[in-house]
Amino acid sequence: MANIIAIVGRPNVGKSTLYNRLTESRKAIVDDYSGVTRDRHYGQGEWIGKKFAVVDTGGYVHGSEDVFEAAIREQVLIAIEEASVILFMVDVTTGITDLDDAIADVLRRSKKPVFVVVNKVDHPLLQQEASIFYSFGLGEIYPLSSMTGSGTGELLDEVVKHF
Ligand code: GDP
Ligand code: MG
Repeated sequence: MANIIAIVGRPNVGKSTLYNRLTESRKAIVDDYSGVTRDRHYGQGEWIGKKFAVVDTGGYVHGSEDVFEAAIREQVLIAIEEASVILFMVDVTTGITDLDDAIADVLRRSKKPVFVVVNKVDHPLLQQEASIFYSFGLGEIYPLSSMTGSGTGELLDEVVKHF
C-alpha cells in the first residue's frame, strides 16, 4: 500500500502552501485526476529517505453554505478512504470555526491516523494560542508555519513513522 498523505481543511487555512512545500523538489511528478476526484492534486515528497504522495484537496465549489459544506465533507471522506495519513489543517489566526468542527466530526470516526496541523504559527508567541485545538479531541497538535517552513520537520518526523 502506497504512502499517501492527504491534507484536508476548510479554504484558506493554507493547505496548498503546505502541499507546495512538501512536494517542492518533485513538482514534475504531479498528476491531476480531475474528473474522478475533482479538485485534488497529487504530488510526491520525501523525508528522511521515505517517499510519499501528497494530496491537496481544494478548490471547492461555490454555492450556498450547505453545498459548500457538503463538498468539503466529500473531500474529507475521499481522503479517509485513500490516504494512509490525514493532515487536518486549521488556522491559529481564526481559531475554531463551524466548518472546522464539522470536519473534525467526520475525522473522529475515521480509523486512519489524523494529525491536527495548526498552521500560520509564524511566531513562537502564537504557540500558546494553538493549544485551543486540543479541544477537537483528535490527539496531539502540530503547530507550524507553511509559509516559513518552521515546524514542518517535527510534523514529518511523526508522519513518516506510519510508513
Ligand atoms: P488553502 O485554501 O487551504 O489551500 O490555503 P492557501 O495555501 O491557498 O493559503 C491561503 C492564504 O493563507 C494565502 O494567502 C497564504 O499565503 C496564507 N498562508 C498559508 N500558510 C501561511 C502561514 O504559515 N502563515 C501565514 N501568515 N499565512 C499563510
Ligand atoms: Mg488550496
